[in-house]
Amino acid sequence: MAKTYRIRCPRCGNPVNLSASGACPQCSAPLSVDAPASISIYRMGNFYGAANGFGIYINEQPYGAIGNRETLTFPLPYGEYKIHVVCGMNRKCNDPVIKLSESDTNVCLKVHMKAGFFQNSFILERVDPSTMPQN
Ligand SMILES: [Zn+2]
Repeated sequence: MAKTYRIRCPRCGNPVNLSASGACPQCSAPLSVDAPASISIYRMGNFYGAANGFGIYINEQPYGAIGNRETLTFPLPYGEYKIHVVCGMNRKCNDPVIKLSESDTNVCLKVHMKAGFFQNSFILERVDPSTMPQN
């Protein structure tokens, strides 16, 4: 299976899944998956809340949801990105900041939900790309 790229349309803000560059289905703005760097996020399988998408935010911008056991790749320019994950009332997250640069072009993260007393929290962990599931 091809990689799934998730792009946030710069014109209308619609989060779009693409396997290659194309057009936004909502406003037909051209969307490119070509970027010097990327962040890949794998949502680890979890019985708890499996039916619900986890909302992903990059630098406070909504990038849509990730499903259970799904891998998404976010093509991005070099820079610093804070990753935040929410689901319903669960808004606690370890909010890692990822630096994409020429020496670090593809950062892989796994996300899982940790059960808490008042609310659950999301843990994002940087992993070696070889441990990412291959579709
Ligand atoms: Zn659009």
